This record gives sequence, structure tokens and C-alpha cells, in this order.
Amino acid sequence: MKPVGIGRYSTGQKRCQICEIFLKWDGLWCPCCGYRLRTRPRNSKFKAELRASNEIDKAKSLGVYEHPPIQAHQKHIAHKRKH
Ligand SMILES: [Zn+2]
Repeated sequence: MKPVGIGRYSTGQKRCQICEIFLKWDGLWCPCCGYRLRTRPRNSKFKAELRASNEIDKAKSLGVYEHPPIQAHQKHIAHKRKH
């Protein structure tokens, strides 16, 4: 097993899991084995936030979620809107 750096996706390359290589390739499919290529993961931060907010909603519905202090809550919203 070799270490896989997420940073390598940022060069515009795609990864074939079958050939275990990074390719500079415009297509969605590996030119050598035809398997679907993995592209740079997008919106991973957004997804993580979405998942976190879903968990908060779940906690709210279960009645176990405690509201943070109002100041902290507003800061959090302002931070999210910036992005
Ligand atoms: Zn391949």
C-alpha cells in the first residue's frame, strides 16, 4: 500500500483504482482498463457541514440538542455565509 495524497487531485489528475495510477485524462473512464475514474472530491467540506447539521437536526428532534450561546450561534452563521 502506498500513501495517497489528496493534494494530487488538485493537479487536475484523476485516479484509477484498478490501475492504481493517477492520470491526466479528460474522460470519466480509464483509457487502459475502462473503469470509472475518481475525480477530485468536490464540496467535501460542504458535505461534512451538511452531515453535521443533519446530526444536529436529529439531536433536536430527539430533544438532546442544546442551543449554543447566542453569540457563538451568530458567529457560526456569519462564518458559514462567508463561504
Ligand atoms: Zn485503469
